[in-house]
Amino acid sequence: MKYYKCGGETFELTLNPFPFKCKRCKGNEALIEIPSQGIKVCLTCFNQIFENRLKNTIKRYRMFRNTKKVGVFVSGGKDSAALLFSLKKVFPELVLQAIHLNLGIQYYSDLAEETVRKLCQEIEVPLYVYNIPKEEGYSIDHFVHTMFKNKICSVCGVIKRYLFTKIAKNLGIDVIATGHHLDDTVSTMLTLFFQGDFEGIVRLGPVLPPLYPGQATKVKPFYHTPEKDIFYYTALNKIPVETCTCPHGEITPSKKNKKIIEEWEKENKQFKYQLLSVFVKKLIPLLKTHPDYKLSSSEFKSCVKCGEITTASDEICSRCKRVSLIENLKEKKLELTPEEFKEFIENHPKDDWRVFDLREKEDFEKSAFEGTLWVNPEIVQASYRKLSKLFKPYRNKTLFFYCYTGRLSYILTLKLRKLGFKAFNISFPERLLIS
Ligand code: SF4
Ligand code: ZN
Repeated sequence: MKYYKCGGETFELTLNPFPFKCKRCKGNEALIEIPSQGIKVCLTCFNQIFENRLKNTIKRYRMFRNTKKVGVFVSGGKDSAALLFSLKKVFPELVLQAIHLNLGIQYYSDLAEETVRKLCQEIEVPLYVYNIPKEEGYSIDHFVHTMFKNKICSVCGVIKRYLFTKIAKNLGIDVIATGHHLDDTVSTMLTLFFQGDFEGIVRLGPVLPPLYPGQATKVKPFYHTPEKDIFYYTALNKIPVETCTCPHGEITPSKKNKKIIEEWEKENKQFKYQLLSVFVKKLIPLLKTHPDYKLSSSEFKSCVKCGEITTASDEICSRCKRVSLIENLKEKKLELTPEEFKEFIENHPKDDWRVFDLREKEDFEKSAFEGTLWVNPEIVQASYRKLSKLFKPYRNKTLFFYCYTGRLSYILTLKLRKLGFKAFNISFPERLLIS
């Protein structure tokens, strides 16, 4: 069983029943080990432990006190899907609203939307879909044409946060529940600690009250849930989750810290909980008393472009600053149809462009577009340094790529754009090869 998540990480799960009974109910076959508790349990007991932990976290931090409507932004990945599923199961009386943002990421976003629709239909939760390209005329992919080309995930985060606030307000949502889990929180805390971003650490608490009137409270019901448990819960309950990764997923410092934490955890099973406890019980309360921490209401202004609240001195919020870069772009294309590609090559000298085939070599040898060069499809996984070296001879040319479906060549196109190459993907490659 394979599962994927936002950011390009892949998990693989194999389940082999243990040759003994569940250590909790002593009746059913033991199937899963809960590493944090060191016990091997059956599916029913695993679900009970998982759901009880969720219930206790919500109760302990009073997450849904006087709540009218809880919004869950469901990306298609396992964390938000498991959150929506478990909230519906554990709190059937709660007014839940699922929201999905279609980010317009080619070869990814429409598939993610399809998965979210399936989940919401199955568990009967109302879904609101906000399609960024249709509503706002740009997609996350377009940022590869801007100075943020190497920081796509951070731009994506700014835009998502802006839309979370705006949509929650429009839909009358007073609490937004997010799928951030124990591993996310602990690795981000460490990253922020090393960066000296103490204000950021304070925001990593389980409940983030509104910073100004009208904003929804943000809560993290999986605050004490390890990522591995979410992974098991999703797989064992057959919760629909996306099976393809976002082409922008990169290894970030926070993900590197996650790996370091996993190593420490091998020595001490309680490591993540101990680290969280030091941050939550000692560091965050201490930081909250610091005079620099509190923002006064006079520091909040309305963005002159979109009207949302901002603390920027020029009164233009981070989202509007980024989106205006797209509005000023003359050319947003990253992909050409075979017909557009042919029109391009008819109007440009042969030496100005190169076309590359990313299919298996034997298929390339059987049928390839005239004058095409073959590149091993595995190159898509190569580091930026290696890609830069490999394509150096073509630095001043326009590069075109095609593969079987368009997905792989699109990922390579994005990577080369991030390196400053003028690269295009060719969509519908079958039309290119037939003619
Ligand atoms: Fe996630 Fe980055 Fe893709 Fe946005 S661009 S969906 S943050 S991997
Ligand atoms: Zn704005």
